[in-house]
Amino acid sequence: MEKLQNFIDGNYCAPVEGQYMDNFEPATGKVYCQIPNSTAKDVELAVIAAEKAYPIWSGMSIDERSKIMVKLSEGIEARMDEFVKAESRDNGKPLSLAAHVDIPRAVSNFHFFATAILHYASESHNMEGVGVNYTLRKPLGIVGCISPWNLPLYLFSWKIAPALAAGNCVIAKPSEVTPYTAYLLGKVAQEAGMPAGVLNILHGQGGAAGDAIVKHPKIKAISFTGGTQTGEYIARTAAPMFKKLSLELGGKNPNIIFADCDFKDMLSTTLRSSFANQGQICLCGSRIFVERSIYDKFKEEFVSRVADTVVAHPDDPKAKLGAVVSKPHMEKVLSYVELAKEEGGTVLTGGERVIMDAPYEEGYYLRPTVIEGLKFDCRTNQEEIFGPVVTITPFDTEEEVLMMANSTQYGLSATLWTSDLKRAHRMADKIDAGIVWINAWLVRDLRTPFGGVKASGVGREGGWEALRFFTEPKNVFVKY
Ligand code: NAD
Repeated sequence: MEKLQNFIDGNYCAPVEGQYMDNFEPATGKVYCQIPNSTAKDVELAVIAAEKAYPIWSGMSIDERSKIMVKLSEGIEARMDEFVKAESRDNGKPLSLAAHVDIPRAVSNFHFFATAILHYASESHNMEGVGVNYTLRKPLGIVGCISPWNLPLYLFSWKIAPALAAGNCVIAKPSEVTPYTAYLLGKVAQEAGMPAGVLNILHGQGGAAGDAIVKHPKIKAISFTGGTQTGEYIARTAAPMFKKLSLELGGKNPNIIFADCDFKDMLSTTLRSSFANQGQICLCGSRIFVERSIYDKFKEEFVSRVADTVVAHPDDPKAKLGAVVSKPHMEKVLSYVELAKEEGGTVLTGGERVIMDAPYEEGYYLRPTVIEGLKFDCRTNQEEIFGPVVTITPFDTEEEVLMMANSTQYGLSATLWTSDLKRAHRMADKIDAGIVWINAWLVRDLRTPFGGVKASGVGREGGWEALRFFTEPKNVFVKY
């Protein structure tokens, strides 16, 4: 069976302690490769390599750094097919999704930050007749990037790219559940001419390799995307060491639908915002609130479209939903359907596992699920499920829906459907979220600030925000 390797100091290598763990293919439920179960010893090797590489990388001209990163982006593009197949196999997502969203976006992430750094200027503040301040923006040194399984290379590159572009050396750990495309990235970095030790990719468990990254005194910042509980642990561990922290955490996003919306556009977008990537996108709108006057019409048409949605193995071109990422995750999602029933909810469609024909009979497939009849403050409507499950709830007034939308501990994103411009602005202003889409969902401009409020995170990614995070400002004053 194939054994993946860590990528340290420009080369692939086995974990120091020789321990491996199984990697499952969600579509079949079978183990298909093994990955290093790295420890603090592997992290130490990566830190030594990064320390050696840092003067070279940070001392390079921005132009040279940018060229290497553009090559990295082109290297992924040149291997598009290999990356797409690997992502789909590792995660269970439809091949078409990996081909149209995940891998092209990883290409863009590297390209975007490779070129953004060319335009990143430091500030200057003139004090009339007194002197001038200029602010240097220096890289931090060695930084840690830890990412989740739902959009594996997409989110891995979203962190690594700005960190590298700003001149840092990186120790990165993808999720142990979806390591494969991060593993392939090492080869592309080699081919792009990235100096050894600049980008180090370690595999293994959060509590071992991840924890060792967070605790290492020479790693100056942690950029983390994952669950809120893990984020809390990381914050508790890293804060006393005064590390810079960027935390992109969970969500329970509202999708608010007013009667005056463009119904057709809303319906097709709501299908995507509910179930894209099997509902495993932190931005999915899992709580759908519908103005009472169109509630019945919405319910009928939405449920009928959801019931017709094709769940199939990821290679099937008809698949709208593939497999969810793992057996424990599938069981977690199903347990929430049971909880919803206990809490008085009615499952309008879905709510069960789909057993496919061989060889996919042990794969982790779930029918997209719509539930109604739940109170806004029950656990099903407050806790993150992160699967193909949405609830629908009627509302009567703006005040009522705002109260329900803002009632969770989370505040990542929100979607509003209305043709009333004033209402759209009014609501966008009052909603607790870092990102609000009006009459749209998941339209992303990489220059905009990305992140959440409340338990959805601390800090922002994207554009200058990311380059600011991965640099330290130093103000210099010169007297006239
Ligand atoms: P997770 O928190 O279990 O794991 C995320 C990463 O952290 C993995 O690489 C894991 O190995 C590592 N990790 C786990 N414990 C660690 C520890 N103690 N120290 C250091 N690293 C540790 O999350 P997940 O299940 O992989 O991902 C799903 C979660 O991610 C959901 O809550 C989802 O909302 C969130 N998410 C958020 C965003 C966002 O931008 N806000 C984007 C995608 C996913």
